[in-house]
Amino acid sequence: MESYLTAEISASAVTNNLTLLRGRLAPATKLCAAVKADCYGHGRQQILGLIAGKADCLAVATPEEAVAIRRLGYEIPVLMFFSACTYPDGAELRDALDELVSKRIILTVVNQREADRVSESAGRVGRTALVHLKVDTGMTRSGVLPDQAPPLIDNLRKLPGVKLEGIYTHFATADKAFTNRQLEILLDVIGKSGGRAGLTIHAANSAAAIDLPRSQLDMIRPGIAIYGYQPSDEMITRLPLRPALRLIGPLMQVKDVPAGSSTSYGLTYTFDRPSRIGLAPIGYGDGYLRCLSNKSAMRVRGRYAPVRGTICMDQTVIDLTDIPQASAGDEIEIISNDPAAINSVENLARLSGTIPYEITCRLGSRVRRKLVD
Ligand SMILES: *Cc1c(COP(=O)(O)O)cnc(C)c1O
Repeated sequence: MESYLTAEISASAVTNNLTLLRGRLAPATKLCAAVKADCYGHGRQQILGLIAGKADCLAVATPEEAVAIRRLGYEIPVLMFFSACTYPDGAELRDALDELVSKRIILTVVNQREADRVSESAGRVGRTALVHLKVDTGMTRSGVLPDQAPPLIDNLRKLPGVKLEGIYTHFATADKAFTNRQLEILLDVIGKSGGRAGLTIHAANSAAAIDLPRSQLDMIRPGIAIYGYQPSDEMITRLPLRPALRLIGPLMQVKDVPAGSSTSYGLTYTFDRPSRIGLAPIGYGDGYLRCLSNKSAMRVRGRYAPVRGTICMDQTVIDLTDIPQASAGDEIEIISNDPAAINSVENLARLSGTIPYEITCRLGSRVRRKLVD
């Protein structure tokens, strides 16, 4: 049985976006595509092959995500943004590291404990573990602080079974002055630790890769731009990215209600004229955020139908009064792939006070992902 909610994922849009990003790189600069969180909610099963064919490396967050790529049969380098040392010392950690090292997953390390555990795993597995060191240059999240980085780099270079292959950082903002400062701190650490030779140095997410070319270094790590959304409203350069996702479902029920009727939980919307309502088979249980209640709109027969009342777990009421031809079974465009539409990912993010990343990542398992064109 197939789900009636379908996220159409456009192959040509993803290809277009990757080509645009490539076009901004020097020929030797690599592209590491962030495919974490099920390709930002777009469906690993559907588009990983497409992305893997056009990237030099894939990036994930968790051991399960890393292993899933190998299970799907891809041999491409895979960088994990963490080391698996999130597990406490013990059998679970040993098993996870051994599987990752034997599957040639590149691990991120941020301290001596992680380095030691990875080295031990390499010994058990009988294979060199590839690692990148992450430096915290100002985001104040994960990574080693700059003053503690040079001794750690020194130790990593001596550690048996471990090959330090890269050093990187992550940017906290699209603000250029702050980003440039982070970049200087990274380059300073590397300067103090034997230089760039033999290492892959990387820093740029989508925003920096597009807007700050000097941050591209040896490799960029774009995510959101691959899927077709502008990484930030503050950017100066706006590439003609094409949103990859279009979410559709059938109109469930249509009915006429008298003026004065109030709709859905809490009766938060009252119709001031005789109205025709329709039901969309989607709710917050599918990732259609409840905070869009009374704010967003969907499209039926090419026209906007405003969302009325509170969004429920499995259904949402839309106003069809101005679309009199609408009838049950019609296609509802719940999320548009036109960036200028009211129901675009970017506008839904704006309306709900979040970012495009969260709109697509939240789409649930009741939504079928289907690759188109
Ligand atoms: C998710 C992530 C990226 C990709 O960021 P985008 O803003 O989606 O381009 C790059 N680097 C790290 C460390 C990340 O966690």
